[in-house]
Amino acid sequence: MEDLISQTLAIHVPPPPPGAALEPTTLERRELRPDDVRIDIAYAGICHSDIHQAKEEWGSAIFPMVPGHEIAGVVSEVGSGVTTHEVGDRVGVGCMVDSCGECEYCRAGTEQFCLRGNVQTYNGVGFDGENTYGGYSQQVVVKDHFVCRIPEGIGLDVAAPLLCAGITTYSPLNRWNAGPGKKVAVVGLGGLGHVAVRIAVAMGAEVTVLSQSLKKQEDGLRLGAEDYYATSDESTFTTLRSSFDLILNTVSSEIPVDSYLAMLRVGGAMVNVGAPSAPLSYSAFSLIGGNKVLTGSMIGGLPETQEMLDFCAEHGIGAEVETISADQVNTAYERVQNSDVRYRFVIDTATIGQQ
Ligand SMILES: [Zn+2]
Ligand SMILES: [Zn+2]
Repeated sequence: MEDLISQTLAIHVPPPPPGAALEPTTLERRELRPDDVRIDIAYAGICHSDIHQAKEEWGSAIFPMVPGHEIAGVVSEVGSGVTTHEVGDRVGVGCMVDSCGECEYCRAGTEQFCLRGNVQTYNGVGFDGENTYGGYSQQVVVKDHFVCRIPEGIGLDVAAPLLCAGITTYSPLNRWNAGPGKKVAVVGLGGLGHVAVRIAVAMGAEVTVLSQSLKKQEDGLRLGAEDYYATSDESTFTTLRSSFDLILNTVSSEIPVDSYLAMLRVGGAMVNVGAPSAPLSYSAFSLIGGNKVLTGSMIGGLPETQEMLDFCAEHGIGAEVETISADQVNTAYERVQNSDVRYRFVIDTATIGQQ
């Protein structure tokens, strides 16, 4: 009954775009190729970028759209050539589902920088010319290389957000050596920030949260931060002058970059993973006077994503999630836009089609 298994329930943003409400639909997944893995999705995280794309705020998008690039589930079938995954394995899929596999960046395991362009998990077009549809669905078919193992000891619900929020923060913390003796500031305690705090603490760094207000201070300290400061209070910037080896900025709103750079120690780095729509500006002297680095970071390649999942399982790190049913997804979108979530929504995909 091949036809039956390739059909799956999903939730999509229908045409006409942009910004239409999500609604239930039925989706065809491709028949397995030799290197494909079929996954029964258990949970899909709601990333803020899902909303930007559903509303077509990041350039023209493909509709209907099934968002979702924080996918956790169980392997239900493997192609004839698959050796790395078996039926029953707990697995995850993040922001990419294909890349050329041959360019220097793919060979280095940094598929996100593929010279041919990586294929996004949704709102993308595969190398076969077919549109991609993401994780707000009961099933997905993905090339084996882009499927990660989720170790035992970490729930699929709290693991799902790690596939985007986890790797987005783990990669720069890792690259810029967050660890014992290092002072790390995490800017913003949201979906990305709360995972960043846990990971940086587990790496051994001394972590400070810089948030607009002190509203989430209790949470920040519970997540392992040693300090918590409000950036709405001007004195924060003078108190924390020359304090940090690394500042990880997870917020997408405009920030006074020079004021943040002044909080770096000599040789320190500020990494942006949040993306404000307006250009950031800064004075070159803010970098020159202290050999400072201002940089960015984009998710992580597949080897590093697996390393992140193994690290999180070893340290008992998951996202803090609020599990919702499929019929709550439109309300959840509104709440994410109002920063009214602690700290990630995950959709229980078993509820799709039940409303
Ligand atoms: Zn994301
Ligand atoms: Zn490539």
